[in-house]
Amino acid sequence: MGEDRTSTQVVVVGAGPVGLMLAGELRLAGADVVVLEKLTTPTTESRASTLHARTMEILDSRGLLEPLGAVPNERGGHFGGIPLDLTLPGRHPGQWKVLQTRLEELLGRWAQDLGADVRRGHELTGLTVTGDHAEAEVRLPDGTTAFFRALCIVGCDGEDSTVRNLGGFDFPGADATRDMLRADVAGIDIPNRRFERLEGGLAIAARRPDGVTRVMVHEFGALPRTAQPGFADVAETWKRVTGEDIGAGTPLWVNSFGDASRQAARYRDHRLFLAGDAAHQQMPIGGQALNLGLQDAVNLGWKLAAQVQRRGPDGLLDSYHSERHAVGQRVLSNIRAQALLLLGPAEVEPVRQVLAELAAGSENVRAHLAGMISGLDIRHDVGPGRHPLLGRRLPHADITTAGPAAGSTATGSTAALLRGGRGVLLLLPGDEARREALRTLAAPWSDLVRTVTATSVSEDLAAPGTGALLVRPDGHVVWADTGDTELTTALNRWFGQPSRAAGAPAAHRAPAPARAPVAPTAQIPARIPAQTPVQTPAPAKKKRRTDMSRLTGKTALVTGSSRGMGRATALRLAQEGALVAVHYTANREAAEEVVALIEKDGGRAFTVRAELGVPGDVHELFLGLESGLRERTGTTDLDILVNNAGVMGGVKPEDTTPETFDRLFAVNAKAPFFLVQRALRNMPDGGRIINITSGLTRCANPDEIAYAMTKGAVDQLALHFAKYLGPRNITINSVAPGITRNDNPVFGIPEAVEQMAQLSAFNRVGEPEDVADVVAFLATDEARWITGSFVDATGGTLLG
Ligand code: NAP
Repeated sequence: MGEDRTSTQVVVVGAGPVGLMLAGELRLAGADVVVLEKLTTPTTESRASTLHARTMEILDSRGLLEPLGAVPNERGGHFGGIPLDLTLPGRHPGQWKVLQTRLEELLGRWAQDLGADVRRGHELTGLTVTGDHAEAEVRLPDGTTAFFRALCIVGCDGEDSTVRNLGGFDFPGADATRDMLRADVAGIDIPNRRFERLEGGLAIAARRPDGVTRVMVHEFGALPRTAQPGFADVAETWKRVTGEDIGAGTPLWVNSFGDASRQAARYRDHRLFLAGDAAHQQMPIGGQALNLGLQDAVNLGWKLAAQVQRRGPDGLLDSYHSERHAVGQRVLSNIRAQALLLLGPAEVEPVRQVLAELAAGSENVRAHLAGMISGLDIRHDVGPGRHPLLGRRLPHADITTAGPAAGSTATGSTAALLRGGRGVLLLLPGDEARREALRTLAAPWSDLVRTVTATSVSEDLAAPGTGALLVRPDGHVVWADTGDTELTTALNRWFGQPSRAAGAPAAHRAPAPARAPVAPTAQIPARIPAQTPVQTPAPAKKKRRTDMSRLTGKTALVTGSSRGMGRATALRLAQEGALVAVHYTANREAAEEVVALIEKDGGRAFTVRAELGVPGDVHELFLGLESGLRERTGTTDLDILVNNAGVMGGVKPEDTTPETFDRLFAVNAKAPFFLVQRALRNMPDGGRIINITSGLTRCANPDEIAYAMTKGAVDQLALHFAKYLGPRNITINSVAPGITRNDNPVFGIPEAVEQMAQLSAFNRVGEPEDVADVVAFLATDEARWITGSFVDATGGTLLG
C-alpha cells in the first residue's frame, strides 16, 4: 500500500458550494487550504437553485456576481407555500435562480484561482486529532491511502458528514416524519403548480425553459421512505394526489427528502469544525439550506485563517459557533414551521389562512418573514452599543471615497470595499479632526483593516450621527462611532493585538499621496567632475539567443517590470528560459507589451498588478502571482524574486515632508522586506533573491537623502537574510545601479546626459540592460557561491 503525506494549514472536506466558498475565504485571508472531495468529478445534479438577498450581497462583496452573468430574479417567494413578497431594502431584493452546479463551478474556479488545492477522488476514511494538529486519512481511487495533516479540519461534507461522524459530534434533533418525492422529468406536459394543496397531498410542478419539468409531491399521512424512491414511486404518488399520469415521461433525476431537523450541538470541537449541511440538517424548503451553509463558510473563513496564522484574538474562533449556531437554530425553526404548513394535514388550513391574511395585510409581518428568509435580518451579538447597524451587515450603498492622490476621488459600492477579504474602517463624511484621530488609532491594524474615507454615501447608508463604522471581513458591523465607545477595543477583539497582526506597522501612515514625479536631478550625485571627457557610446544592444536556457524550468517575479531596469530584467530572465511574472501598478499597457515581447521571442510571461507601499500590497500581489503560476505550472513555486520597483526621491532635505518620507520607505524598503518574507513560503531550496538598491548608498547626494536611506535599508536585507537562508541554499544579494536610463525626461537632454555620463568610468550613462545582465547572472546557478553581497553595477561611478 502506497502512502503519501501532505501538510497544510486547513483541510476542508467536501467540494460542494460550502466547502469551495470556505476554501476561497481562507485563501483570501492568506491561509493555505486543501479541499478533499470523494467524487472524482463535480456533480451534475442541481439540488438547490435559490440564492437569497444576503447571499447575493456576499457574492457581490467578493466580486463574484459579474462572472455569474445575468441571473433570473423573482420578487415573490413563499412561506410554507403561502405567497410572500420577499423584497426588502437592499441591492438584491427577492430571490435569485442559480443552479447549484453553476454556483459550484464558479466557486471552484474562484477558490482555485486564489490558490486552494482541490483534490478530487479523495475519500475521508479516518481522523486523528492531537494537541498540535489534526490528520485526515484518505482513500484514493487506486485504493492507496494518503494522509493530510493540518492545524484544523472542517467538515463541509453534507448531511451524512463523515467528519461529523468520525469526530463524534452530537447531532440532536428529530427524525423525519414526512417526506417529499422529487423528480426532473422530460417528455411530459402537465400544468405548472406552485404549491397546490389538494385533498390527497401537496403537488408542485415547474417546467424549465429546456422543457424538463421538476415535480415534487407529498401524500398526506404517508410515512417517510427508508430507501430512495424509483420513478415508478413518484409517478404513482403523483397520480394518487393529482390524478395525472406522468409515467410515460423520462426521469432524469429522482430523489426524496424528509423533514428531519437536526443541528450539531457544537460547530467546533477543538481542531474540528462543521459547516453547511454537515452542521445542520433541514428540509430544503425555499432554498434556505444552501444559503445558510454559504453564510456559515463566510463567517468561519476569516476567523479560521486568523487562527491558523497565529494572529487570531482569544475567543474569535469560538464566535463561529455562537453566531452561526444561533442563526441556524432560527432558520431550522422557521423551516419546521414551513414544513408543517406545507405538508401538514387538513387541520393546518385555518392557520394557513390566518398567516396568509397577515402576510398580505401587515407590512410588519411581511417584512419580518422576508428578513428571516433572505438572511438580511441577521444580527450578531458583537458587544455593547445600541447603534442600529451594530451586529448587522453593512448595507450596500453607493459611496465616493478619497483616492490615493490628494484631491482625487473614486465612486463605487460599499460591497467592493470588502473585495480583498479584509476588515474596513469606514470613515463617513463629517468632522475631519475626528476622522484623523480614528485613522491614527486604526493605523497599527492597517494590514488587516483597510481605512476608507468616504466623501459621500447614498441614502441606503444614511446613519445620522455616525462618524465611522468598523466592518468585519464578512460584512458585519462591529463598532459604530457615536462618540461613546472605543475603537481600539473593537479592533483588538476582532482583529487581535497589533503586535500579533501580521506585518502591522507601528505608526500611522497617511493616505498615500500621488506618486511624486521624478525630479530631473534624481539620482545625480552632487559631485560632478570638472573635466568633461568624451562620452563613450553604449555598446550595441545584443539580441540574446533564447536557447541560453540557464533558467529553463524556473519561475521569476520582477517587481516594477513594466518599465526601466525591471522591464529589461524581465526580458532577460525570460530569454534564459524563466517563466516571468511582470509586475506593475499603473502602467498596464506597458506591462502587457513586455509580456507580448517575451511571447514573441518564444518565452513565457504574465502580468501581475499590485500597488506596493499600501496596506495589503503583498497579499494582493501574491494572489495574482500564485494564480498565474498555478495556471501555467500547476504549482505556486517561485524560484527567483527581483525586488526592483521603486520610487525616486529628488527632494531637498528641507523640503522632505513626513508623508514623502513615509511613502519612500513604504514602497522602497517595507514592501521588499515583506515580499521576501512572503516569497519564502513559495521558494524552493536553491532560490534566488535580488534586491535593486542604489550607488547612492555609497556616494553623497543631498537631494536624495531620504531615498538613499531607503536603499541603505534594503542593502541590509542581503546582509542579514543571507545567513538565515544559507541552510536552504537560497542566495540574496543587492545590485546597486548608478545613473541608468529610464523614462525620466532628463535622459532626453543631451547636456544633462553628458554631465551624468562623466560620473561613470566608462563615460556613459547605464542602460537598463547593463543592470539586467548582472541580475540575470545572479539568478543562475553560476552565481551559487555569491550571497549577502553588494554588487556594484554603477559602471565605475563609485570609484571616485
Ligand atoms: P522606473 O523606470 O521608474 O520604473 C519603476 C517601476 O516600478 C515601474 O514598473 C513602476 O510601475 C513600478 N513602481 C513604482 N512605484 C510602484 C509602486 N508603488 N507599486 C508598484 N510598482 C511600482 O524604474 P528604474 O529607473 O528602472 O528603477 C528601477 C529600480 O532601480 C528602482 O528601485 C530604483 O530606485 C533603482 N535605481 C534606479 C536608478 C536610475 O538611475 N534609474 C539608479 C539607481 C537605482 P508602473 O510602470 O506601473 O508605474
